[in-house]
Amino acid sequence: MDFTLEKYAQLLTALRLSGISFQLRHDVDLLPANSLRIAQIEKEQELKATYYFRMVPESYDEAIIKQIAALGHTIGYHYESLTTCNGDIEAAYRDFCDNLAKLRQLVPVNTICMHGSPRSPYDSRDIWKHYDYHQLGIKYEPYFDTDFSHTLYITDTGRRWDGYHVSVRDKIPQYQELWEKQGLVFHTTDDIIAQLSNTASPLRQLHYGLLITTHPQRWNPLGVRYLMEFGSQMVKNGIKRHLVRRN
Ligand SMILES: [Zn+2]
Repeated sequence: MDFTLEKYAQLLTALRLSGISFQLRHDVDLLPANSLRIAQIEKEQELKATYYFRMVPESYDEAIIKQIAALGHTIGYHYESLTTCNGDIEAAYRDFCDNLAKLRQLVPVNTICMHGSPRSPYDSRDIWKHYDYHQLGIKYEPYFDTDFSHTLYITDTGRRWDGYHVSVRDKIPQYQELWEKQGLVFHTTDDIIAQLSNTASPLRQLHYGLLITTHPQRWNPLGVRYLMEFGSQMVKNGIKRHLVRRN
């Protein structure tokens, strides 16, 4: 079974033992309690990650944000202001600043990351065609500030590790083809673990750093929640495939 907490712990162990440099990013799209569990599993393995919270009730939970920060992890803002402000750049920037200030009342924040909003026509990264987040004390936005010529990006978008074909925005189009040619394509978590554990694999040979994004709501202990997430993702992948074809 994939996308269980046990599998996530196995992935962390394989990452640590591989000697590869890696960053763990979590987009807390919903079910923040799942993120707290993942944060505890990382703490057990003495790893630190970054958790990006949205400002909507299904993500934003002040008690959980503080608990995750107290475990030694970094908190970031998972912004979607251009979507919530219907494409109005000025209003979106104000909304972004207000939300950032609110989050900073809880914990220090110097990193942000776009929420993909697959059903929205707006890409919230477009705010930064008009404004500069560095002026707000933000040091890192993964889509802009990662050197993808040295960093392989993988994400569990679509509840699989090769979901960039069905993802509307969460992908790095200019490098995806190269990575495919190099054999750096994974479908299951076991596929990643297998390459991490094999010194002759492309992942070990090519000396990329790894940026790994997960959505903790997808990772559950086996049980009812696990089956619900599995079923709903089947439906969502169908909708996204339709959206990607239309674009
Ligand atoms: Zn998101």
